Amino acid sequence: MSFESLGLCAELLSAIDAQGYSTPTPIQTQAIPVIFEGCDLLAGAQTGTGKTAAFALPIVQRLSEKIPSEKRRRPRVLVLVPTRELAAQVSEKMQYYGRRLSLRSTMIYGGVNIQAQIERLHRGVDIVVATPGRLLDHAERKTVNLSRIEFLVLDEADRMLDLGFIDDILKVAEYLPEKRQTLLFSATYSQSIKDLADELLQQPRRIEVARRNIAADAVTQALYPVERGRKREMLSHLIRKGEWNQVLVFVRTRYGADKLTAELLFDGIKAAAIHSNKSQSIRTRTLGEFKRGELRVLVATDVAARGLDIERLPHVVNYDLPQVPEDYVHRIGRTGRAGEDGVALSLLCPEEQPLLQAIEKLLKYAIPRQTIPEFPQIAVRRGGVKAKAKGAKGPAKAKKRAATPAPAATRSALAPAPVQPPAKATKATKTTNPVKPAPRRKRVVEERPAVKIGRRGQRSKR
Ligand code: AMP
Repeated sequence: MSFESLGLCAELLSAIDAQGYSTPTPIQTQAIPVIFEGCDLLAGAQTGTGKTAAFALPIVQRLSEKIPSEKRRRPRVLVLVPTRELAAQVSEKMQYYGRRLSLRSTMIYGGVNIQAQIERLHRGVDIVVATPGRLLDHAERKTVNLSRIEFLVLDEADRMLDLGFIDDILKVAEYLPEKRQTLLFSATYSQSIKDLADELLQQPRRIEVARRNIAADAVTQALYPVERGRKREMLSHLIRKGEWNQVLVFVRTRYGADKLTAELLFDGIKAAAIHSNKSQSIRTRTLGEFKRGELRVLVATDVAARGLDIERLPHVVNYDLPQVPEDYVHRIGRTGRAGEDGVALSLLCPEEQPLLQAIEKLLKYAIPRQTIPEFPQIAVRRGGVKAKAKGAKGPAKAKKRAATPAPAATRSALAPAPVQPPAKATKATKTTNPVKPAPRRKRVVEERPAVKIGRRGQRSKR
């Protein structure tokens, strides 16, 4: 399948070519024709699959086919996203494609002065990429007119629900015309997503592309057991020894992000933190420095990192395991993107054993354990005992699970130890959980706890 055969116009084909994309990704192959047909779409795809171009390209082309003559154009496309970072990325793509077809795009998000956004909207735009809260603010102030919206895109819808945006989304929908095309993209398909789709979509076509955790051919995963108090030391060691120059480190809290950043700086490793307590300008600047390679380590919380698209990110580290197992999948999806190789390592302390159990249950395979001589194997049993005390599965079960083979892709990617070249690796690193071949699985568990959506009986769907 080629981009030409998807019916894209010459301007967009040259834009795609300039980006270096040679063939469409599976989500692009499947979604573009559906969008051109004019159907509503419910797509199971997450960041890293090429989903942004999958909706941006056909929408921009459709919009360019009838550009209104009025000077102050009203938006015809609304893309709702969970975070400012994702808004910036989607908006950048929309601008990139739209510019070639004389379309104007803008970005609306909270945490910054509203006046500049009002002025931009007043001058007229075709495409609005927005976070739900600030957009609703504009709608209520009547500084945005949503009555001409032809396309509504809900990007990373599951994440928007996780972040509590459901009411804002439903209120925004009340400002939209009934006749429109609605596209919903979500990495997971929970009851709350089904409810949202029932509310906003009409007879949607459903498409699903492989999730990154099983499409992780290019991602090497490993677990490094370590005591909590030695995590920072181990991280510095891995960064130095592995000569990593660009690593995204996930921590659980904003405080933890700042603390680890200060410690890495103390260790002489150039690092900065990105989290929701930082102003948007600092976040943008930090991300820019990291992308340009001026920062070696970016320490981030899940919310701040959501939607980050850093080309060819080679290393991701889970300094703290995520509380929500699905976040593990999102996190490792930051690396090995668009066909590049990547390494995703997790530093596991005994207290995190229950979190690991939840992650491995979701993945349906055990993440291979590795140790390094400088950090001797800690008592795994401690984790098991603790886990049991908290009502999780005990050591016997944990042992059985650890023996569950990883998918072929993960296993083969592990052959070279992530920190050292293969020859040395066999001496210097010891794989504590040898993994055996297994057939690759097609899908993993998708459900996450349902977020209740208040149904609005009287609301007309369109
Ligand atoms: P997304 O899932 O939209 O966040 O895209 C993930 C990454 O894949 C981005 O860096 C895109 O630039 C890249 N990408 C999107 N489509 C393609 C394609 N057809 N070929 C290669 N890379 C792509």
